[in-house]
Amino acid sequence: MFELNKLLRPHIADLKPYSSAKDEYTGGYGIFLDANENALGSASSTTHNRYPDPYQKEVKTKIAALKGVDVSNIFLGNGSDDIIDLLFRVLCRPEKDNIIIMPPTFGMYQVAADVNTIEYRVAPLTDKFELQADKVLEQVDENTKMIFVCTPNNPTGNDLSTQEINKIIENFEGIVVVDEAYADFTTQESYINHLEQYPNVVVLQTFSKAWGMAELRLGMAFASSDIIHVLNKVKMPYNINGITQKIALDALENANKKEDMVAALIEERKRLEAILPTLDVVQHVYPSDANFLLVKVEDANDIYQKLMDKKVIVRNISKAPGCEGCLRISVGTAEENAVLLDVLRD
Ligand code: PMP
Repeated sequence: MFELNKLLRPHIADLKPYSSAKDEYTGGYGIFLDANENALGSASSTTHNRYPDPYQKEVKTKIAALKGVDVSNIFLGNGSDDIIDLLFRVLCRPEKDNIIIMPPTFGMYQVAADVNTIEYRVAPLTDKFELQADKVLEQVDENTKMIFVCTPNNPTGNDLSTQEINKIIENFEGIVVVDEAYADFTTQESYINHLEQYPNVVVLQTFSKAWGMAELRLGMAFASSDIIHVLNKVKMPYNINGITQKIALDALENANKKEDMVAALIEERKRLEAILPTLDVVQHVYPSDANFLLVKVEDANDIYQKLMDKKVIVRNISKAPGCEGCLRISVGTAEENAVLLDVLRD
């Protein structure tokens, strides 16, 4: 049985969070003498003298409508990286608890575990990058707090099997973090639609990929209101800056622009998927459900350097276990991809 209170670090369960007057004041106009801001204005040419909404209600209301969830099921962080770290801090007792990852996968899970002095256990994907739930569940003990499932998976690009993910969720009493950073590029159904069925799931999504707003640093977590309540207790008071909130509102009004960009990027990905295997230096292009391709090449270090010399920067992951000899290549614009292909042809 999943019991959130038993999973939390004991002091977090009892924590009384920082509160500001803005948390309580719901009116429109007011004379704000509560937060030691500068009442005169800003030194910059635009005005930024007031602290932003600590709970980002407007942004969350728009996200809630778009995703079909309640505002109480949403948490926003300074990128999803920030939310990953926060999950460690609320759940994992340093030097006691552990988490499970399935490499090759997104590197931040391991880094966040290291930063928080938490053991990470590994249950590698198969050589075809498939998830094996049984192998993951074998690693679980009474101190396992989280399992990180990344789908579509970075850096391999493929969706992991829904059946295997469900098996993990249904047979684990800790939190399953389903990282859907690349959700917009796949046809796989989001776990956001199953939060009621699966109270132990935290879904991560981000504005950094499909929305094209990596510079803003805005990540989303979707989970039961109990889990979101705990994250809200621990977050920094004004964790999402006001400029980010305003631009996010603007983007959310233009969701169809995001959809158009996603369609165009998938088209370009398909074009690269067709052309890359015809090049001499390319040995294999792995199937992708994301906005990047994992490509096995003849001599990854050499090709990486030659691309770099022509100012085409890709990710050399040839040393990552499971990705030997591979480069990870983000889908660029048609012009950028043409340069990439030219250099590889040479
Ligand atoms: N999850 C995955 C799988 C990613 O690939 C990335 C970015 N590379 C992130 C999370 C982090 O995204 P954000 O920019 O929201 O911190």
